[in-house]
Amino acid sequence: MDTKDAQEMMKRIYLERDKERGLDRTILRTFQELGELSEAIQKELPDKDIANELADVFAWLCSIANIIDIDIGEALANKYRNTCSRCEESPCECENEP
Ligand SMILES: [Mg+2]
Ligand SMILES: [Zn+2]
Repeated sequence: MDTKDAQEMMKRIYLERDKERGLDRTILRTFQELGELSEAIQKELPDKDIANELADVFAWLCSIANIIDIDIGEALANKYRNTCSRCEESPCECENEP
């Protein structure tokens, strides 16, 4: 599934509920899901469980993007253009990262 399909799917399933919840609480839920992902990794849970948490984080990012009507795939393509957004190299050659 590509990002556009994923974002469209989340829109079909959740857009009305996302709008009702609002941006602030949706961002809060996204932070909570990041916490769950971090915990799953730290606890060395099975890959299947870590994958589920990654899916949750991406799903909530889609919800944020859908509420404010931004296409994540377009945003990625515009910002990264196949290279690092800072040094414009691929792979990244930034001195201060990671
Ligand atoms: Mg989760
Ligand atoms: Zn770089």
